[in-house]
Amino acid sequence: MPVSDKFERPIISLRISITNRCNVKCFYCHHDGIIPQSYEMNSDEIFKAAKVAADIGVQKIRLSGGEPLIRDDIVEIVEKISSLNFKDISLTTNGTLLGNYAESLKAAGLTRVNVSFDTLNPETYKFITKRDYIENAKEGIQKASEVGLYPVKVNMVVMKGINHEEIWDMFQFCKENNAVLQLIELLKTDNCHDTEFFDEYHYEMEELEEELTKIADNVKTRQFMQDRKKYFVDEGEIEVVKPMDNTQFCKNCTRLRITPDGKIKPCLLRNDNLVDLLEPMRNGYSDEELKELFLNAIENRKPFYDDKC
Ligand code: SAM
Repeated sequence: MPVSDKFERPIISLRISITNRCNVKCFYCHHDGIIPQSYEMNSDEIFKAAKVAADIGVQKIRLSGGEPLIRDDIVEIVEKISSLNFKDISLTTNGTLLGNYAESLKAAGLTRVNVSFDTLNPETYKFITKRDYIENAKEGIQKASEVGLYPVKVNMVVMKGINHEEIWDMFQFCKENNAVLQLIELLKTDNCHDTEFFDEYHYEMEELEEELTKIADNVKTRQFMQDRKKYFVDEGEIEVVKPMDNTQFCKNCTRLRITPDGKIKPCLLRNDNLVDLLEPMRNGYSDEELKELFLNAIENRKPFYDDKC
């Protein structure tokens, strides 16, 4: 049974960021709420964190970063975690190295994958990522589908004037590759905080959602995913991911996070309640003592919008 916090939110999933390093330089990147750090948990430490999480009822693991596939031991990490019998082990990647790893990751026990891929246009890709890896990313998506990672989701951050006119081409590409298209609304971030950036590129999804509602054969609302809408269109699937800085996100949040330097991060949007796991692990804490650290972190989970949740 999962443990619940004071706000009756069961802790079902754990997102482990296994590195801060990345091989692309997306100009809009929010670095996933990660704090800069100089060292990373090794594969045994990641395994141990996952094991204790499993002991307190966590059912799903997502590996993220930075770019998780940049780690040489990524297959070993997945292999170790999959011995713990989670319902689901997923990974978020930019896909550029996925062509090399998809098969062994699937064999190691990875269930599904999200690939961040914003454009089919090589020049736009280079503008966004500062790299020439578009073909590698496309190959990664194709390979992930081929080897049976399911579902493969393509995360497209929609930006006005950059890629918003490509939505339907991207949808076609996804259908051809048996992938779901996730349209992500641009968020304000620390490095692109200024309203100028946001005003220039932010694409309002409302009209698009109205259109999708009209043309969809079916629409589903995913309650524990912030009421995210899933549209079934023309034998394909499109999901729309709205910004996370709102009460609805907090209310339905069932996720803990771990930073690459081994800190439990109870809430995405705050850094004032982190709980160090790595130092205690390195000092020989028992699993029981580590479990207490997880339970403390859960006990101190405080919604960003706590007055409204
Ligand atoms: N390297 C991995 C990847 O590319 O998926 C994981 C890290 S990346 C930061 C995680 C996700 O955050 C990607 O889907 C990316 O598109 C999204 N993201 C980053 N900055 C964003 C922003 N300003 N607004 C919306 N989504 C953003």
